[in-house]
Amino acid sequence: MNENAFEIGVLRLGHRIIRDKRVTMHAFLVSRAFGASAFIIHGDKDSKLEENANKIVRIWGGRIRIEYTENWLETVRKWREAGGLITHLTMYGMPVESVINDVRRSGRILVIIGGQKVPGEAYRVSDYNVSITNQPHSEIAALAIFLDRVFQGKELYKQHENPRVFIVPSPRGKVICRNPLYRDDSIGRR
Ligand code: SAM
Repeated sequence: MNENAFEIGVLRLGHRIIRDKRVTMHAFLVSRAFGASAFIIHGDKDSKLEENANKIVRIWGGRIRIEYTENWLETVRKWREAGGLITHLTMYGMPVESVINDVRRSGRILVIIGGQKVPGEAYRVSDYNVSITNQPHSEIAALAIFLDRVFQGKELYKQHENPRVFIVPSPRGKVICRNPLYRDDSIGRR
């Protein structure tokens, strides 16, 4: 399946404003950069984090939606009703390489990532509990590798729509270009 045909949502469980703001932001950054189409935050409502995530999209482009859910089981139900496959990243799950071919058959995938405590239902409602090694590490690392396996590395060449700025790869130093379609003073503002 072509990488643009996938609709991938990342559901971040149990966000806590003070303790998790950096980790959740990094999970969002990975979701966007690696091709997810929705990032759904569960736990504390964190308007500042949502605003910062939306600002990243305005500056660097792309179409990822940032959403909040009070009821993550309801979010899972909606994705399933819309034909989505539910996956949950956990060190207790089945090795990614043993399930990825089945997972990739679905064009619509919800990826649940946990935080400090993951409710038992996450294991039960998921079609696939997927491990990226059976060692404890991080939701950010697990998500990056999972998305890379879903997109088979093609996300590394993804062009994000309507960026205000973009980087020209350089062997040394920083080369940043502004998109001429946007006035200079529009960077960072709506
Ligand atoms: N005991 C947890 C678990 O089930 O993976 C580790 C908690 S870790 C602080 C937070 C999150 O990182 C987990 O909920 C899971 O989404 C992700 N994670 C950590 N290690 C992982 C691994 N080896 N494979 C897949 N996901 C992992």
